[in-house]
Amino acid sequence: MDTNEAEVLHKDLLAEYWDRIADLERSLKKKTCIAADRRDCKGKIIAAHTIPRSQLSHIAIDGHVTAFLFKDGRTDAKDRGVRDFSVLNCFCQHHDSSIFAPVERPALVFDDQQLTLLHYRAVGAEMYKKSGQVESFRSHIQHYTRKQKDVAKRTFFENHLRIGEVGLRDLELSFSQISKDVDSGNHSNVSALIIEFENRPTMMTVGAFSPAWDFNLKPLQSISDFSTPLQDVSLSVLQSNSRSHAAIVWPKSSTIGHQFASSLLDQPRERISTLLIKLSFNLIENTCLNKNWWATLKGAQQHVLKMWMLPEDQNAGMYAFSGVSFDDWVYTNHHFVNV
Ligand SMILES: [Zn+2]
Repeated sequence: MDTNEAEVLHKDLLAEYWDRIADLERSLKKKTCIAADRRDCKGKIIAAHTIPRSQLSHIAIDGHVTAFLFKDGRTDAKDRGVRDFSVLNCFCQHHDSSIFAPVERPALVFDDQQLTLLHYRAVGAEMYKKSGQVESFRSHIQHYTRKQKDVAKRTFFENHLRIGEVGLRDLELSFSQISKDVDSGNHSNVSALIIEFENRPTMMTVGAFSPAWDFNLKPLQSISDFSTPLQDVSLSVLQSNSRSHAAIVWPKSSTIGHQFASSLLDQPRERISTLLIKLSFNLIENTCLNKNWWATLKGAQQHVLKMWMLPEDQNAGMYAFSGVSFDDWVYTNHHFVNV
């Protein structure tokens, strides 16, 4: 195989890989309650919001936000109703309403309890999605095994299955730890950085990820080191008191969370919202925009955001200012919680 053929094969494989993930997102119908250890599930499994619906309504226009759909190797911007966006079938009716009532109430104040619940739901949602991803890869590999051909493809997916399984193992560990705190009402095991901005948000997100670098581009942990569980942080960009707030939350025992959060404060203040937008687009697919703001962007800016939304392996560039500024929500202040 010459270099050119290898490149074409690699591109084909990547496109197929990400299409599998996109298919999965569309068909993620597995209904389960991830709070099921509590053993008192009631009601049916509902389409539970990861970004509180009361929050989505703040940036919605006529009940819709702009979100992104990945298909055939490209990203398209789509209007999504706030009832449908950011929902996963991973909590029963009873647990969704009983556990998350404190973050659905109108006043988001980022107290210990709300921060614990935001982190719990972000990690739980990632764990639920990752488990679907692993199942999807397994069935894909079976398909290639049955066909007894396309060995290169099968090997490619086997490698990604291994990465997915390790990721799932780490997320299950993180989730079981935060679940214990939620179950026992202990809200003192998470730490957080809350940044307040003057303007309303034009983007919202809630998600968890394992940062490999901080915003000073110093390495934090190795994504490819399977022997050590990866540590997660969650990021929420939401609205409180008519202002944007970013909450970066991590387990208090984490050895990287504080460094990761602090490194954002080392950046020029006017770049902080751009860096948060960039990171959210790169690492949290559960990210949506105010439709009017999206419409005001130039074609080239929309193109950059869509490129960031393309699924891609984590790299240091995702944490760096790239020379393209987006919205400046105007930093006003920040504080740390429980550090
Ligand atoms: Zn339940």
